[in-house]
Amino acid sequence: MTFSGFYKKTREERITILKEAGLLSQESASSLINKELLNVDIAGQMVENHLSLFALPYSILPQIMVNNKTYSVPMVTEEPSVVAAASNASKIVMQSGGFTSQILKREMIGQVALYDVEDMELATKSIDLKKDYLLQVANAAHPSILKRGGGAREISWEIKSESGLDFLVVYLSVDVQEAMGANILNNMLEALKAILEELTSATALMAILSNHATNSLVRASCKIEVGTLDTDLEQARKIARKIEVASIFAKADIYRAATHNKGIFNGIDAILIASGNDWRAIEAAGHSYAAKDGKYKGLSTWIYDKENDILHGELTLPMPVASVGGSIGLNPSVKICHEILGKPKAKELAAIITSLGLAQNLAALKALVSKGIQAGHMKLQAKSLALLAGAKTDQVEEVADKLRQAKHMNLETAQKILIEV
Ligand code: NDP
Repeated sequence: MTFSGFYKKTREERITILKEAGLLSQESASSLINKELLNVDIAGQMVENHLSLFALPYSILPQIMVNNKTYSVPMVTEEPSVVAAASNASKIVMQSGGFTSQILKREMIGQVALYDVEDMELATKSIDLKKDYLLQVANAAHPSILKRGGGAREISWEIKSESGLDFLVVYLSVDVQEAMGANILNNMLEALKAILEELTSATALMAILSNHATNSLVRASCKIEVGTLDTDLEQARKIARKIEVASIFAKADIYRAATHNKGIFNGIDAILIASGNDWRAIEAAGHSYAAKDGKYKGLSTWIYDKENDILHGELTLPMPVASVGGSIGLNPSVKICHEILGKPKAKELAAIITSLGLAQNLAALKALVSKGIQAGHMKLQAKSLALLAGAKTDQVEEVADKLRQAKHMNLETAQKILIEV
């Protein structure tokens, strides 16, 4: 299937291409064309104090290759250039065989925090002696997950001290199968709370899932033939070396690290929203993982192998996404996203999302170390400025074109151009 020139097609043509490629049913294609995406009454049942619907652009990255399989990836973002950048980087990586992605583990961690512990040594020994019983209590609190092949797997504890207080923290790790697992974990942890209080002669402060999801790590990597980075091989080599240096810089400087990781999440958030996943949870997981060594660092690593002219990229981060639960079954736009992706299970979805994050990072670093980020960004930003100035759909291209040639690309200039048009 060819997606050549996809970005030049009309919205209807793009939907037809996806339908003809077997990625969209007739019903879903019609829903996209007619914008029948979320029923207002269903939306009203999803949240509190509901007023109406809030729309965002729903786009598609035509092709990304992950573990030798190609996917078209729905992306929901309001930011110009994110989809174009990810598409471009995915195309480059595809020329070198695409991304490889591994699920290192897939369990969710929750915690019961105890304080005012009478005797810490006795309390921790009691937990160690009762581990099997505690796991049974946890599983009894959400037995259906056992039937699905999951369940509580491990109990451990740590002592943490702060501001003169000693906390005994009990961690529970659970195989949540296809769910993100917040409710499974919280049911289990709340069942453990009173028992742990009694067992440790302590006061329980809270029992809740943790978003520092270190038992749900996913790694994406790629090996790019450097010649594919630029038509001029020497220029391509310079770019590869600078991408390597940029990834080192993102580990050295927190000001850069935050922006480096924000760029990764440009892509990750866009598919998380499209796939109905809790993007706040994955953001929290990614940023806390970036600070796991006590210093906040860039999440990706790029290494330029000069001898073989290969640029190696790697991104490891927690990706506890779900293929069921939350709003996934409720929002038709989300169902369409899963349909376009081929209804992947949670692990496959996590592999696609992490690979997309690495593609987004490659695009940002490549632009930053070569022509700079503004050239591409402002090119697309011109359209938003034209719209903000009040241009009608059929005037946008003309205003944006003139705006790109103007000395100062801002709203005032866009308004002046619009008057002339
Ligand atoms: P749900 O409770 O909506 O869905 C999970 C449930 O789906 C499971 O408990 C299970 O219930 C059922 N299920 C059906 N098929 C499967 C399967 N194959 N594998 C696993 N479960 C299956 O969602 P989650 O518990 O996953 O929680 C996610 C929601 O919680 C999100 O909306 C999130 O925003 C929110 N949340 C997040 C928090 C955080 O991140 N800190 C805190 C609190 C809430 P059963 O087996 O009984 O049928």
